[in-house]
This record gives sequence, structure tokens and C-alpha cells, in this order.
Amino acid sequence: MQTKKKDIRALTKEQLREFFEKNGDKAFRGNQVYEWLWSKRAHTFEDMTNVSKETRAMLEANFVINHIKVDTIQRSEDGTVKNAVRLHDDLVVESVLIPTKTRTTACVSSQVGCSLDCNFCATARLKRMRNLQPDEIYDQVAAIDNESRLYFDRPLSNIVFMGMGEPLMNYPNVMKSIEMITSKEGLGMSPKRITISTSGVSKMIKKMADDETKVKLAVSLHSGIEEIRNKIMPFTKNFPLTELREALEYWYKKTKSAITYEYVVWKGINDDKASIDALVKFCKYVPCKVNLIEYNPIDDGEFQQASEQATNDYIVALEKNKITVKVRRSRGKDIDAACGQLANKS
Ligand code: SAH
Repeated sequence: MQTKKKDIRALTKEQLREFFEKNGDKAFRGNQVYEWLWSKRAHTFEDMTNVSKETRAMLEANFVINHIKVDTIQRSEDGTVKNAVRLHDDLVVESVLIPTKTRTTACVSSQVGCSLDCNFCATARLKRMRNLQPDEIYDQVAAIDNESRLYFDRPLSNIVFMGMGEPLMNYPNVMKSIEMITSKEGLGMSPKRITISTSGVSKMIKKMADDETKVKLAVSLHSGIEEIRNKIMPFTKNFPLTELREALEYWYKKTKSAITYEYVVWKGINDDKASIDALVKFCKYVPCKVNLIEYNPIDDGEFQQASEQATNDYIVALEKNKITVKVRRSRGKDIDAACGQLANKS
């Protein structure tokens, strides 16, 4: 069966060069094919027109090119685009294109389902089915880059790992995808335009700092109070705030890159003064800014957006303490493309 053959895009450029040398060809052929596979986005060996027929047949006999298929494209009235992306084994993930006046941001998935169990997030209900491969993450980005050019007449400008999954629970593949996205043989994007969002896997935040990645870091904090965080994000019992703080201090010391905290204010959960004070305190540990995200309801009412007054209280307290805060309105709500809504409904 075809799927038994190895996915050629799991090979590094060096491995591909070695493959050609071993098979009596020039290592240089590896570079050529590598370019076809990544920057030229070839889906078949037949596409590789400057590679001889014999070589193409030889590749065909040894490898497959696994590529994603954008099954359905939904367009929101606010311009947001959601792709349902079918993988080679028929699993489906979602990615979102978010246009603003000046930017196009791709919000990509890193896992099928999610390893974590945040009670307010629709993706968490899917459970983790598998990690995405580097080429599957890369392809989501490339597909959105195409759509950005097609619909908005400009290339993709930013990437956020805020789709389905916890990127730091699929660290090696996420990093490999970023290597390709930023390399000149891939999309040539600057790592400064890429943000990894994590629920706070402390050990991996430190690893990321050690690996000297140049990407930006966002943390889904939602509460600076341990008991509340444990309640709404049960897995955090194994990832205490003290460790998160330590990891973030380590990150900043190594990278000098400020952190963005994502934070939803919910009625009766974190809309009180103690919660505001705890956030302000947490924000003082490391240079940061806060994005207050509008809640996108996914259930029958356990979680509800707090009052406008509560959100304002947060803004006043943060600004008083010279912490930059922005309110992030939902995009693509009508097509279930907003934060926390990605759940393969269609
Ligand atoms: N696992 C990573 C990547 C997902 S990012 C992380 O947690 O950071 C998705 C963002 O949307 C996170 O900040 C998450 O906390 C937030 N989110 C999840 N469900 C939401 C919902 N129903 N409404 C608004 N934001 C939500």
C-alpha cells in the first residue's frame, strides 16, 4: 500500500542529499528536490519538471508526498476565513486566516485535538488524537499564504500557534515547521512574526529559551490565582504558577522578549478584585502585555463573559500599573473560527 512508503518531507535536506549520493546521483539533486518539496510546494513527483523521468520514477518507488487538502473554506462576514484541513490519514484540523487593515495572520493547529483539558475550550473536548507533522503545520501556513494573496492581494504577514492543540506538547515538530517557515527554501518569514501560544508548560518554555528561538511567546494565563486556574484548567495542577513564573523569568533573561498574557474575564470566576490584584502582581515578574480576549461561548453556561464593568476594572488596574492592555474582540464567530471554537463541527 502506498502509505507504507516514507513521507519524503520527513527528510532533512542533508538526508535527501545523502539519499541521492547513495543511489548513484549527485548530492546536489537533493537540493533541487528539496526546493520542489518546500518553496515550490510540489504535490507530486511529476510536478518536478527539471528532474529527469528516471529520477522521478525512483522517488515514486521509494517515497510518498503527504500533503494536506483544504476540504472546506468558510468565510465570515468580518473577512475571517476558516479552512478545514484533511490530513493524509483522513483526520481533520482547522486553521484560520485573520485579516486586518494592514496584516494577515494565520492561526494554525499543532495537534489533532488537544493534550490539555481547559474547561472553556471546545478543542479540549476532542482529546488529543495525534501530533501534527512539521510538513502538516507548514502546509496550513502555505495554504493561508495562498488565500491571503488570492483574497487580499498580499502575502501572509504573521503566524500564531493558537489553533487546535498545545504547541509545546508537540515541541520538536512545531520547531521543525518553524525552521521551514523561516528558511529561504520555505516561506522565508521572520521568526519575529511568529507567536507560540502555550497554556504554560513550564519545562518546555525553558527549553524554548535554551534553544534560542526567536519567536514570540504568549501564555494563556486566565488567572493569577492557583486554585482558580486549577479549576478552569485542571492540568495546571501539574504546572503550578510558581514554576510558570520561574520559567517565564528564565525565558525573559535568555531572550529579552516580552510575554503576552491571554486572559478571559468570566462572570463569577475571575471578575473580582482579588483576581485583578493577582494578575497585576503576576504581570510585574516579567515585562509583558495583556490581551483581554472576549469569551466565545461553547457550552450551556458554566462560563459566561463578565460584565463590561469588570473588564474595565481590569483595564484601569493594569494601566495604573503601566501594563499595556488590549481588548481583543472575537473574529470569525459566525463560522466558529474564534478562539476556543475550533472543534471540527462541520
Ligand atoms: N494550547 C495553546 C494554544 C491555543 S491558543 C494555549 O492554550 O495557549 C487558543 C487561545 O484561546 C488560548 O489563549 C485559550 O485560552 C483561548 N480560548 C480557549 N477557549 C476559548 C473560548 N471559548 N473563548 C475565548 N478564548 C478561548
